[in-house]
Amino acid sequence: MTMGKLIDGTAFAARLRGQVAEKVTDFVASQGRKPGLAVVLVGEDPASSVYVRSKGKMTVAVGMESLEYKRPADISQDELLALIDDLNKNDAVDGILVQLPLPKHLDENAVIAAIDPAKDVDGFHVVNSGRLAVGLPALVPCTPLGCLMLLKDELGDLSGMEAVVIGRSNIVGKPMAALLLAESCTVTIAHSRTRDLASVVHRADIVVAAVGRPEMVKGEWIKPGATVIDVGINRVPGDEEGKSRLVGDVATAECLGHVRAITPVPGGVGPMTIAVLLRNTLVAAHMRAGLPAPEGL
Ligand code: NDP
Repeated sequence: MTMGKLIDGTAFAARLRGQVAEKVTDFVASQGRKPGLAVVLVGEDPASSVYVRSKGKMTVAVGMESLEYKRPADISQDELLALIDDLNKNDAVDGILVQLPLPKHLDENAVIAAIDPAKDVDGFHVVNSGRLAVGLPALVPCTPLGCLMLLKDELGDLSGMEAVVIGRSNIVGKPMAALLLAESCTVTIAHSRTRDLASVVHRADIVVAAVGRPEMVKGEWIKPGATVIDVGINRVPGDEEGKSRLVGDVATAECLGHVRAITPVPGGVGPMTIAVLLRNTLVAAHMRAGLPAPEGL
């Protein structure tokens, strides 16, 4: 049995950050300031804190300004909206990211709607999702855009391919489907009500799994030679007692004998998300400065 290839998202993301860093140098030379990314963290959720710290470090590493706004978990909706308003008006800020999930008493949709769409580097604002849906230039959610970059790197032109996206969330599944449609794939979106998921997945040349269920997609579901992108991040008990490990939504080892290529977890899609966030911040900085979009990103 020939083995498929493991797609190295860590290496791809490092290359992308390198390209962003080069273009940041050009931006600083022409504009006399660094692109700025503001990250708002509400509360002290440990996973979110780790994620925000690592975003901050990588932002600085590519030569951008990192601005962190930590607010207590009991911040009011009005106070949070006032902070977003300040950041919208702050010329040093090109990108605004509000770390999700927010505490229950805050209205996430209203907070996202308050972000200036030109600074919405997560691409969650309805203006950006609408622009993506109708094929206008938009700030596109980081994780699905990262998945598309990996797919195009592996497969080249995606036109005419059968793509199945499992999951229909606003942050992964739906924008992923819109991106694949824009590449002229024939796209199916599967979800928890889909009947006979195995046979739906078996049609696909491209499978993107964004579900949140450990190793749900089985090897025998995969059409021979398909390319599989595993977005899932699931913590499961490890081999040693008291230890845990990360697995995706796809049974990777089972699939390796069937696929052309597959992203591992960890080390596949995960590292792409922050790299694309930095890319989006650079794109937003270019747009705000009236410069053409940075080439090749
Ligand atoms: P959501 O929980 O918002 O969405 C999950 C989707 O999966 C829903 O559309 C749901 O269907 C569908 N689903 C649930 N059960 C089944 C099933 N049995 N069969 C088919 N579909 C099913 O999750 P997200 O989109 O936010 O995230 C998905 C995964 O990706 C998570 O593991 C998350 O941790 C990971 N993730 C990873 C990122 C990264 O950087 N690598 C970034 C973002 C997310 P329905 O709509 O019908 O309920």
